[in-house]
Amino acid sequence: MTAVPVAIRSRPPVAQASAPGSPLVDGFGRVHRDLRISLTDRCSLRCTYCMPEQGNEWLARESILTIDEIERVARVAAAAGITTFRLTGGEPLLRRDIVDVVRRLSVIESPDGPVSIAMTTNGIRLPEVLPALVDAGLQRLNISVDTIQRERFAALTRRDRLDDVLEGIAAAAASGLRPLKLNAVAMRDVNDDELVDLVAFAVEHGAQMRFIEQMPLDAGHTWDRTRMVTRDEILEALRTRWELTPVPGRGGAPAERWTLDGGPHTVGVIASVTAPFCGDCDRMRLTADGQLRNCLFSTTEYDLVPIMRGGEDDAAIDAMLRSCVGGKLAGHAIDDPSFLQPARGMNAIGG
Ligand code: SAM
Ligand code: SF4
Repeated sequence: MTAVPVAIRSRPPVAQASAPGSPLVDGFGRVHRDLRISLTDRCSLRCTYCMPEQGNEWLARESILTIDEIERVARVAAAAGITTFRLTGGEPLLRRDIVDVVRRLSVIESPDGPVSIAMTTNGIRLPEVLPALVDAGLQRLNISVDTIQRERFAALTRRDRLDDVLEGIAAAAASGLRPLKLNAVAMRDVNDDELVDLVAFAVEHGAQMRFIEQMPLDAGHTWDRTRMVTRDEILEALRTRWELTPVPGRGGAPAERWTLDGGPHTVGVIASVTAPFCGDCDRMRLTADGQLRNCLFSTTEYDLVPIMRGGEDDAAIDAMLRSCVGGKLAGHAIDDPSFLQPARGMNAIGG
């Protein structure tokens, strides 16, 4: 298991916001280019590692940002150097105006050129809306599928909807959007005997499989470090079938990648817990209810709602983006005894 780098445990220098007109740079020199926009906290599934089965306290409808508000934040963020918007949730396809959201965001320009629009989805509803999304400017898709066994899927997501997800993946494969990525959280005694099958399934669909180490972000706060399937265990399982060769040039990407038997197909692992990549993080988040977050694990949020609904101008949004980035810590410190799981579950943060 990889030790957590010392830098991850350190605290930042006094939070310092970058100057208006300059890139969104934090106290450790990391330039922020990627804004994850959560469109809703609601979902058609109830994955055990993300949401409780019942008793969700949904965000109040009136607190959810409107399409105009989302577009406004996105424009200010792009002017400050954000070049990628990733739409997520909850399940982003549950948002009724999803095609319009994509259409409005896809025409935004950053100083570096047009922004790119990506989406992370459970795939349900894709057959219905994908052509319109592509027409509106969607460029990349990540679809989450933790198992391709029907009963297992129903137990894990508490909904018997594997067939809908598989239809969504087939639609994405046929759409020509590439790279197409499939995400699975690797879980002990749940799907850790299926990792090879999932990679083979992805290859058949012209997609790249990516395994995610489970993180302490479940609404039920049941995560247990000792039960987690680690990056090294994932690689060991895959090496029983393929020769894995590291792909260089990861940059700020969360996934480390390996070719399968020399390529061209690859597999990725997102080892947020055992091999954190915080040192290269260029991501920030906007929750569906208008809170900016500088990290999945942050316990601090920067509230844009009073600014947007209180009649303030775009300079105030820009200043809030800069405060948020300026207040970012060196790393998430999951392994630190002082680590506190954020109050929101993953569905309400935006994965
Ligand atoms: N509903 C969409 C989906 O499932 O793709 C988008 C939102 S979901 C929160 C985004 C990603 O977060 C999914 O790939 C999901 O597997 C991942 N995720 C959720 N909870 C997680 C956890 N506790 N640890 C690791 N990944 C998690
Ligand atoms: Fe829904 Fe995605 Fe969370 Fe599963 S991981 S419950 S699909 S938001």
